[in-house]
Amino acid sequence: MGYEDKVRRVIPYTPGEQPRGKVIKLNTNECPYPPSPKVTEAIRNLEISDLRKYPDPLCSALNSAIAEHYGVNEDQVFTGVGSDDVLSMIFLTFFNGSDPVLFPNITYSFYDVWASVYGIPYKTVALREDFTLDPTEYLNTVNGGIVLANPNAPTGIAEEYSVIRDIIEANPDSMVVVDEAYIDFGGETVLPLLKDHENLIIVRTMSKSRALAGIRAGYAIANSRAIKYLNDVKYSVNSYTMNTAALVAAKAAIEDEAYFKEITEKIIKTREETKKELRELKFLFGDSKTNFVFARHEGVRPGESSADFARRIFEGLKERGIFVRYFNKPIINEYLRITIGTEEEMKALFAVLKELMA
Ligand code: PMP
Repeated sequence: MGYEDKVRRVIPYTPGEQPRGKVIKLNTNECPYPPSPKVTEAIRNLEISDLRKYPDPLCSALNSAIAEHYGVNEDQVFTGVGSDDVLSMIFLTFFNGSDPVLFPNITYSFYDVWASVYGIPYKTVALREDFTLDPTEYLNTVNGGIVLANPNAPTGIAEEYSVIRDIIEANPDSMVVVDEAYIDFGGETVLPLLKDHENLIIVRTMSKSRALAGIRAGYAIANSRAIKYLNDVKYSVNSYTMNTAALVAAKAAIEDEAYFKEITEKIIKTREETKKELRELKFLFGDSKTNFVFARHEGVRPGESSADFARRIFEGLKERGIFVRYFNKPIINEYLRITIGTEEEMKALFAVLKELMA
């Protein structure tokens, strides 16, 4: 037996594959373009001898750049090692009640993993068939908190501002977390609600629209009291989450608005072209406001179901060095999640896709 009966056993989150070598990676919603040249410059200017020192535990320079960007105070910003770290700290800080935390049955598949590892009770709420949120389910229930990704992943669907607002206003006694990982590609942020709503915390990432997935930087914006609670928990786990290089790279990225605009606009344009091509190939999908499309197909071979098709295409693409994401889970096992790459990458994708569908 030994130590076995004392182990905290968990079923971990499964991240998308990170294949090495020359492949087309459309499976983890990374940015197809490099980070801002200002990031290159910031990292080049790093004083290597400074690495003997611990980084700033307050992340002051970065937090103040983020605060300035959004017109909030520095004490309203919390930074972490990717938004995964930020969300994990949020779960640990704000979900310490006995009522279940609510989130959709189809959403970012890390939420239930954090709830499980921290022993937080949770309940999933079914999305409608078209993957939109049924707000009534969140309006009159006792709950321990609410987590909504908007736009949602992996569906790509964005909810109206008023839908999210009504949920926040109906739940003054719960923290409502709005994960806006993909908001820069469409959808409407609920940032304006921060000034009148103490129970709102907004989470952002630098991994998608800021092209910094490898640096691991994400942040939360809320009222200063909530951020203080979050920092108290962070400093009870690990004071130095953000490393010196990540701090300067993330700061340079948030400051380069022109480059950010240029790459997000390019991705949005390619996304709309991708939708057009997918439609021509008879794929079915909702109106993605993200940097990916979540699409299914009725199948092209005799007797081929949507799920058979999705699996076959996923494997066929992979054999040819093109990685997309397939989730072998109920309801969504008929879908492929395709990250928007460069125009050239999408051309290569469609060439192989047409071959596999012929
Ligand atoms: N939230 C959502 C909805 C996501 O899809 C992702 C990306 N996997 C994250 C958060 C985490 O992103 P990161 O940790 O890279 O900031």
